[in-house]
Amino acid sequence: MREARVSDYIHCPNCDDKLHPFSRVNRTEAAHINEERGVTDGHGWWRCENRTAKGRCLWVQPHWHQAKGFSLPESFR
Ligand SMILES: [Zn+2]
Repeated sequence: MREARVSDYIHCPNCDDKLHPFSRVNRTEAAHINEERGVTDGHGWWRCENRTAKGRCLWVQPHWHQAKGFSLPESFR
């Protein structure tokens, strides 16, 4: 069964001042967040869907907690 990919519009500190679509992280991204941050709620985090010339934006955060967010490593492009 696939999880529905619902987008939400959130401000992204890595992108510009506009709101950008975010979607829930996938399983691989969630595992990295849990390991990197020592948390267990990585599956509930969101990732910016904006694309730049370099590829997809790497910013992830809990939905309403931008201060807790960070950028995934380049391998997640
Ligand atoms: Zn972004």
